[in-house]
Amino acid sequence: MSAPDDLSFATLPHAAPVSPERRAELLVDPGFGRVFTDHMVTIRYVEGRGWHDARVEARAPISLDPAAAVLHYAQEIFEGLKAYRTADGGAALFRPEANALRFRRSAERLAMPPLPDAVFVESVKQLVSADRDWIPSSEGGSLYLRPFMIASEVFLGVKPSSEYLYLVIASAVGAYFKGGSETVTVWVSRDQTRAAPGGTGAAKCGGNYAASLRAQAAAVEHGCAQVVFLDAIERRWVEELGGMNIFFVFDDGSMVTPPLSDTILSGITRDSILTLAKADGLTVAERPYSIDDWKADAASGRLREVFACGTAAVITPVGTVRSADGEFSVSDNVAGPVTKRLRSALVDIQRGNAPDPHGWVT
Ligand code: PMP
Repeated sequence: MSAPDDLSFATLPHAAPVSPERRAELLVDPGFGRVFTDHMVTIRYVEGRGWHDARVEARAPISLDPAAAVLHYAQEIFEGLKAYRTADGGAALFRPEANALRFRRSAERLAMPPLPDAVFVESVKQLVSADRDWIPSSEGGSLYLRPFMIASEVFLGVKPSSEYLYLVIASAVGAYFKGGSETVTVWVSRDQTRAAPGGTGAAKCGGNYAASLRAQAAAVEHGCAQVVFLDAIERRWVEELGGMNIFFVFDDGSMVTPPLSDTILSGITRDSILTLAKADGLTVAERPYSIDDWKADAASGRLREVFACGTAAVITPVGTVRSADGEFSVSDNVAGPVTKRLRSALVDIQRGNAPDPHGWVT
């Protein structure tokens, strides 16, 4: 079943990579998820043989049989992490082992074979070194890495596939968060939920995101940047946003974030913030918090700051909360001091501008 932890990678450099001039043009304002690097990693899995044929090769379309299982039953998982350009021109990865662990847990939930953590981390490092010239050196820029695994067996029966393809691609991205202290308005999805107990909410699988698109589109229709999902049973407890976890900061310096369960994605940014907040002397409770609490605490002034967090946007302050039955705002729609402090602490570690007491940077 398993792969040797030291699976060796064949490197097949791109025969005609993007020219340095064109690359420089593309890196000026890359946006998010549209500018891709020259290479990709591929590793194959076949039942009985395990993981094999690891390569760093030219990024190119992959060919799949129309009956490949992933195209029918969505047996697919992915990860997202960033490589940053450090001051000395090197490259830093933020907690790749945490992504490896989450990838393995997602694989388990989707009945997929585990990829050894060491192979996951090595695959990411291999791609970053092949494409290191693609890491933007602009302020806030980074190389977003997307490891993913798809079921490639050619079979229409509903069962775990016996063959898989693991890939890593990379996309140069700009600062997601430009202004620095602008808050986002969020839409509370009352009718559609993201995940139910016993389901796949805690796994990073494509199906969860497909199921969230309608609610995300409703958010945009209502002028909101992100959707807030409530629990599927009582439609009352705040769970997370479409692609970010959420924190509430109170006037007494305490913080609350919803507890992890099988309906919430265990964010690596969330986990890092829990550690940084405690080091900052803040008390953080992982406990259920309802949409009614949010409204009441905003009205009383007890709730001072709300922020969302994830790899893509790091930390985004949340201001106005809109739903089918009206809206309310927290404080005066500007990023609060705790949000700013935690964001700087995190970004400084990620970019190698501050000591790394937790050993998060590779
Ligand atoms: N929740 C969801 C649903 C997400 O897609 C993400 C992004 N991976 C997060 C939370 C934040 O996770 P992380 O901090 O690991 O990026």
